Amino acid sequence: MNVTDCLFCSIASGKIPADVVHESETLIAFRDINPQAPLHLLIVPKQHITSLDTAKAPHQSLLGDMVLVAADLARTESVAGHGYRTVINTGVDGGQSVDHLHLHLIGGRQMEWPPG
Ligand code: 5GP
Ligand code: ZN
Repeated sequence: MNVTDCLFCSIASGKIPADVVHESETLIAFRDINPQAPLHLLIVPKQHITSLDTAKAPHQSLLGDMVLVAADLARTESVAGHGYRTVINTGVDGGQSVDHLHLHLIGGRQMEWPPG
């Protein structure tokens, strides 16, 4: 896929609007358009990486930043005290529907296990 056709590349570049809650040089985080819980954020690298399956060693620090930004946002969005879930869906069986790497931060209700 050409990155110009990629939904999350378009959100990262500002071409498509989103409810942005955090932005740095390398990452953007915004509210999911179809929230699965009272808090549902997506933490997205600005660089196009298709999925966790295509992430490589040079992306190590970016991947670490995604997780730490999620933890920071869980605190600022006031769900850290009760707990929350972070998820990276990968590929068809993983339920990935947008082919640009993203970390879901979901909270504000009791989560269930196993996931569907
Ligand atoms: P996936 O299924 O790939 O793990 O997650 C993709 C997520 O992107 C879904 O939770 C979906 O609701 C969200 N999403 C899809 N299109 C848009 C959009 O245009 N804007 C926002 N903010 N979220 C979107
Ligand atoms: Zn992209």
